[in-house]
Amino acid sequence: MSLEDINGIGKKTLTYLNNLGIYNIDDLVTYYPYRYDIIKRSNLDIIKDNDKIIIDGIIESIPTIYYYGKRKNVMNFRINTTSIMLLVSIYNRAFLKSKLKVGEYVTVIGKYSKGKVIASDLKLSRLANETKVEVIYHGNNKINSSEINKYILNALLFYKTKDIIPAQLKDKYNFLNRIDAINEIHKPTSSNKLKSAINTLKYEEIFLFMLKIHNLKKNRKNMDGIRRNINKNEVDKFISTLPFKLTNDQIKATNDIYEDLISKNRMNRLIQGDVGSGKTIVAIIALYINYLSGYQGALMAPTEVLANQHFENIKKYIKSANIEILSGSTKKSEKKKIISRLQNKEIDILIGTHSLFSDDVIYNNLGLVITDEQHRFGVNQRASLKNKGITPDTLYLSATPIPRTYALTIYGDMDISNIKTIPSGKKEIITILKKNSEIKDVLQMMLDEIKKKHQIYVIAPLAMESDNTDLEDVNALYEKMNKALGKVCKIGLMSGKMNSKDKDEVMEKFKNKEIDILVSTTVIEVGVDVKNATMIVIFDSFQFGLSTLHQLRGRVGRNDVQSYCILISDKEVSRLKIMTSTTDGFKISEEDFNIRGSGDLFGIKQSGDMAFKLANIKRDYQLFLKVKEDINNYFKNNNISDELKNILNKYSKLD
Ligand code: ADP
Ligand code: MG
Repeated sequence: MSLEDINGIGKKTLTYLNNLGIYNIDDLVTYYPYRYDIIKRSNLDIIKDNDKIIIDGIIESIPTIYYYGKRKNVMNFRINTTSIMLLVSIYNRAFLKSKLKVGEYVTVIGKYSKGKVIASDLKLSRLANETKVEVIYHGNNKINSSEINKYILNALLFYKTKDIIPAQLKDKYNFLNRIDAINEIHKPTSSNKLKSAINTLKYEEIFLFMLKIHNLKKNRKNMDGIRRNINKNEVDKFISTLPFKLTNDQIKATNDIYEDLISKNRMNRLIQGDVGSGKTIVAIIALYINYLSGYQGALMAPTEVLANQHFENIKKYIKSANIEILSGSTKKSEKKKIISRLQNKEIDILIGTHSLFSDDVIYNNLGLVITDEQHRFGVNQRASLKNKGITPDTLYLSATPIPRTYALTIYGDMDISNIKTIPSGKKEIITILKKNSEIKDVLQMMLDEIKKKHQIYVIAPLAMESDNTDLEDVNALYEKMNKALGKVCKIGLMSGKMNSKDKDEVMEKFKNKEIDILVSTTVIEVGVDVKNATMIVIFDSFQFGLSTLHQLRGRVGRNDVQSYCILISDKEVSRLKIMTSTTDGFKISEEDFNIRGSGDLFGIKQSGDMAFKLANIKRDYQLFLKVKEDINNYFKNNNISDELKNILNKYSKLD
C-alpha cells in the first residue's frame, strides 16, 4: 500500500507530504500531532474573535455554494442559535449540501470571527458532548493541519501494524498495542488513553534509537581494528615540531587517540571542544600517527571552505605525505585521477566534503576517518562511513558539545575526549547586545576596528530577500554596509547561494586582507579561521540558536588581540544575554538544551541528529536512561529478531 492509494492523495499532495518528510504510510501514521485543542461548547455572550467554538442551532437558510479555483468551493448558510443568527462558511464540503435542510439541527465546530463562523466540521445532529478535541499537526503553506488529519484518518482505515516493543517490556509498563496507540494519538477517545498512547509511542521511539546505539556498540566491539606499531617517541617528535606547545587537554586527547590507534580495538572517539580550543591540531596528529603506520587517512569537513582550510593546514604540518583534496567542485577528470591514485596508494591523506564517501571513491587501505564538526552529519551518515573500507578507526570533532550526561546517551557508542582549556594568550571575546536603533554605535565600533587594520564579519540571517519578513537579507545588508562604510574600506559578499568557486575566491580575498568586511550568511559558521578578524556583527541574532551564535562568535578571537561579538536584536533579549554572560561552550549548550526542552507540548522539534517526534532528550532524559537499561537487560537474554532488525534499518535511513 502506498501513499497514493489513500483517498484524496494525488501527485501534488504527494510532493507536499514529501516536503514534510512523509514518504510512505508508516511515515504518515507516525506523523504525530503536536497539540490538541479542546473546544468547549460556547456561550455566545462571551466569545471573542478568533475563538474556536462549538455551537448548535437550527439551519435558517438554504446553503449557497460558490466554486473557485480548481475543485474548490465554499458553502454559506445561516443558523439560528438560541440568542443570535450566525453565518456559517465551510470550505470544500459542497457534497454536504443536500443534507443541510432548513429547520434541522446542526452543530458547528469552527473559528468565530465577526459574527461569522468558519467551520472545520459540521455534525448533523445535536452533539452530545460538551467538548470536542481538535488534533493539530505541523503543516506548511501547501498543506494544513486539517488536510493532514484527513489523510491520516483515511490511512488508519486500513493501516495494520505489529508491536515493536517486545511483549515483556510492553507488559512491564502496561503499554497499549501499537495499532491502538497510533489510532488513539490521532483520534483521542479519552485523556487517560491518550496519555497511554503517547507514553507507548514515545517509549517506542526512544527504544528504537537506543537499540540502534546498542547495536552500533555491539558491532564495534565484535570488529577487529588495526593494531599499529608506532613508538610514542615518534609522535612526541612530531609534536615538538609544532609552532606552539599543546595545552594539557590537547595532550590528553592526543594520548587517548594514540592508545586507541595502537590497540587492536577499533577507535570510535569524539573530541568535544570549544571553538578555537585547538581540535584541528589533535586531528592532524591522529592523521600523522595513522600515516606513519602506513594507512590512508581521510578527513571530512562539512563545507568546501573548511575542507580547503584543512587541506592547506595539513600540508604545512605533514610535509612528507601525499595529500589531496576532493570536493563537490573537483572537476570530473581530476576526480578520476585522484580516485585511481587513491586505489594505487599514491595518496596518503584525502581531505574533502561528503564526496569523500561517494560510492565511486575506493580506498586502498583506509585506516582512519576523521569527521569535523560532526553534529552536522546524521547518525546514519556516521554509520555509513564506518562501513567503508576495512574497519577504519573513526574520530569525530565537535564544537557543539552536548552536556556530558546527554552525551552518554546520544553518543553512547563513542568514547569522548574533552578539550576544555583554550590555548593560552587568547583574550576572552567581548560580547555586546545592541538594538537596531543603535546601529550608529555599531558602525562606530566597526570603524574603530577597521582603523586598526582588523577585519570584520557581518552576518545576515537570510540568504535572499523574503516578502513575508523584514529580516535582513545578505544582499541588502551588503548594500547597506557599502553605503555606510564602503568609502573607507573594502566590503565583500558571501552567501550560500554562490557556487563554491566564488565562495572560495571571496574567502581567499578575505584571508589575504583584500577585503576588510565580509558580509555573509551562516556559511562561514563552521571552522573558518582568519586570525586578523576581530569583530563579528550578527544582525537579527534572535533568529539563531545559542549554539549557532557560539559557533559564529568563534570566528573571531583567534589570536591574542581583543575581539568583539556584536549581537543586534530587538527581540528575545533575555535569551541572547546568555551569550554576553559566558563564552563556555559547554554552558551554552546546556542552556540551549534547557530552552529547546521547553518547546511544544509534545516536543516535536527537528534538530538534525536528534529529530525525535515525541521524545525530548532534555525532558525525557530519565526515560532515555530507563530504556537503555531495559535494552541492556532484555537483549542479554534475547536476540534481536529479524523483524526488529529490519525496522532498525528502516529507522536509520530516516535520520
Ligand atoms: P578548533 O578547535 O575550533 O578547530 P583550531 O584547531 O582551528 O580550533 O585552533 C584555533 C587556532 O588556535 C588555530 O589557529 C591553531 O593554530 C591555534 N592553536 C591550536 N592549538 C594551540 C596551542 N596549543 N597553542 C597556541 N595556539 C594553538
Ligand atoms: Mg575545527
